[in-house]
Amino acid sequence: MIPMVDLKRQYHGLKSEIDAAVGDVLEQTHFILGPNVNALEEEIAAYHGLPYAVGVANGTDALLLALRACGIEAGDEVITTPFTFIATAEVVARLNAVPVFVDIRPDTFNIDAGQIEGKITSRTKAILPVHLFGHPADMDAIMAIAEQHHLKVVEDCAQSFGAEYRGRKVGTFGDAGCFSFFPSKNLAGFGDGGMVVTKEEETAAQLKTLRNHGSSVRYHHHEVGYNSRLDEIQAAILRVKLRRIDQWNDARRRIAAAYRSSIARKDVILPGELNGCRHVYHQFTLRAGNRDALARALQEKNIASAVYYPVPLHRQEVFLKLFRSSEKLPQSEMCAREVISLPMFPELDQEEIRRIADVVTSSPA
Ligand SMILES: *Cc1c(COP(=O)(O)O)cnc(C)c1O
Repeated sequence: MIPMVDLKRQYHGLKSEIDAAVGDVLEQTHFILGPNVNALEEEIAAYHGLPYAVGVANGTDALLLALRACGIEAGDEVITTPFTFIATAEVVARLNAVPVFVDIRPDTFNIDAGQIEGKITSRTKAILPVHLFGHPADMDAIMAIAEQHHLKVVEDCAQSFGAEYRGRKVGTFGDAGCFSFFPSKNLAGFGDGGMVVTKEEETAAQLKTLRNHGSSVRYHHHEVGYNSRLDEIQAAILRVKLRRIDQWNDARRRIAAAYRSSIARKDVILPGELNGCRHVYHQFTLRAGNRDALARALQEKNIASAVYYPVPLHRQEVFLKLFRSSEKLPQSEMCAREVISLPMFPELDQEEIRRIADVVTSSPA
């Protein structure tokens, strides 16, 4: 079986280093907010050329705490994409704010910046773009709109660690960049984890308070916070992996190039990479008129595939119940019907890529 992602191969390549890093934490017994979390925060801030990074429990909390640190409150509207993982808009609803969905452009699967201004109202407080599948959103246009309308920008970088837009890392454009270290992400722990990067001292201080029960001085609490700390064991593992992230992202880009040059059919649309963007291929996602036939053909040859995402968020039951919207966002709905993602992880080998590409080329999709 060729899986969507094979975490064992990566672990076995790094086993002695990772086991030693975990062993050190167990010996030191400083399990919460210890030296590895501090060091990882410094290393990830430096990686992004920013002064601050704050570790949190997961990528969902990274978004939630970032929105709170940006002052998002009940009744505020946050503009985002409907074509993403639920967490992106779920956190908005958890603050009793309202996610306002703007349709996507099908070539990158990201929010169509040209349609954002049409959705701005007097209640709009922030834009929450997602760099989906590892392809940067259109940050020049988004930042220009945000500046003109005095909106905060929180970037969902859960799938795009290391991606670049016009030579700049994603997560460094807005007020906060939010990362997930869920085990299948490009930079991933062996459990849950997340991080927020920011250039603003005030935001970083606010995030550190929020993640620790609304407290900056022990046992003195000045607001309602969360227990949302990055685990020391995860941080130790992530520090080992951070040293390889660029080489892994390069490998993903080579695999994407190999898929592109060996999948030969006109009725399957391959993922694009816009000029000035460095895509990091968290997923390699095609569009096919008959993606179910393609999935079956792959399955018959013992090759995994997956549909990210079958239901756009404006059509999810949870949001239909909450907001009763009957809005149509045609590009998102079309992509939800047509997308299919192929196996993608840095250790995928030439022979496997060829086998996968052969099935895609010859399937009845
Ligand atoms: C994974 C993911 C999240 C949430 O991250 P968790 O660490 O699983 O909480 C948020 N947004 C997107 C786009 C994701 O892919």
